[in-house]
Parts: sequence; structure tokens; C-alpha cells
Amino acid sequence: MTEASDRVLDHLLDGYRRFRQTGWTPNRERWESLREGQQPEVMIIACSDSRVDPSQIFDVDPGEIFVVRNVAALVPPFENTPGHHGVSAALEFAVQVLKVKEVVVMGHGMCGGCKAALTQELHGNEPGEGGFVANWISLLDEARAPVADEFGTEGRPAEKQMEQAAVKVSLDNLMTFPCVRRKVKNGELTLRGAYFAISDGILHLMDSETGKFEAVS
Ligand SMILES: [Zn+2]
Repeated sequence: MTEASDRVLDHLLDGYRRFRQTGWTPNRERWESLREGQQPEVMIIACSDSRVDPSQIFDVDPGEIFVVRNVAALVPPFENTPGHHGVSAALEFAVQVLKVKEVVVMGHGMCGGCKAALTQELHGNEPGEGGFVANWISLLDEARAPVADEFGTEGRPAEKQMEQAAVKVSLDNLMTFPCVRRKVKNGELTLRGAYFAISDGILHLMDSETGKFEAVS
């Protein structure tokens, strides 16, 4: 092992030991009850970005939120093509087995995935050399066009538009899943868009009527 990996592991294990003392032990009963199973009422789809941890932002306990994180917090459309549909598998489990009441898609400021969708800087790269990301964020190509036309492809105004448009793409794609569509129509499931602005730490919720993101007070 290198010195750097020793340092990283030490940092993680220091945190683990703090967690065992201050997080796990006082809540032992809660952890034991969770052994029987989980009943989260909400699924959150967030970006893998290290700055936007849903558990931290919503200050929730273990067992409360079912989370999928990926580059740019994207949900692909319903597809039954061959392949390994990780987000779709998690969504299916949350909606059909756990029967969550809400699915929240949370985009965020300074999103590298959304920025790359806008600039298309990874376009044409080989898998493993940026190609996987390029392919993944091509889910945003359609939404990118009007943003690029109006705001260009660089700078925060354009990036913010892309970040918020990406949330809407995921919400639209969620509705392409028959089980989601059915439950939304029956009133058993609510879809919500959210946006966490890293610069000021303020959460915004999308107004489903206007599509605008409003700061939560
Ligand atoms: Zn991101």
C-alpha cells in the first residue's frame, strides 16, 4: 500500500470509530430494529458528487431514505434492452417492494456531469477514458440544445440552467416506467424535483406547475 492509501484508510477508520462511539452505540435499539427490514418512505436520486450527501442535507437517520447516486443524478428512460440497468433496478425495488411514497430527484450546483453535458468535452472518448460518462450524460442531449442556444455552453448561468433542466429530464424519464406512471396517476406516489445550491447550501424545490425552483425557507 502507498502512503496515500494508508492515510485515506486511517481517515475512514477514525471516522468509523467515532461513529461506533457517538452514532451507533447510543442508537443501538434503532439499529437492532432495522435488522428486521427497512421501510423508507422516500427514494432520493442524487449526484455522486462528494458535496451533496442526501443523508447529511436532510439530516435523516438510517432507514429513512433509499438513495441512488450517480453522475448528474440521472434517471434513464424505461428500457428493456439488454444491459445492466442499475438505476432502474433500484427504482423498481423502491417503488414496487418498499412502496415508497415519494421519489425526489435532487440536482445540484457546480455539477461536473451537467457541465460536461453542456460542453460535450468528453464526446468521442473511449470507455474508461471519459466515454462512459459521455454516454451516460448523453441522456441530457435533448435538454441541452435549448440551454446552449439561449445561454451558451460555458459559465454559471448556462450551467445552472443545465443542472435544473437535468432534474426535469429525470422526472420525465421516471414517468416512462409503467409502475411509476400507474402509481403517480393513482395518487400512491409523488415525484418531486429539488436542487441543492452548493455555494450557499440552500435547498430549492421545483414547483410542479411552473417548473421553477424555489428556495426552501
Ligand atoms: Zn453532480
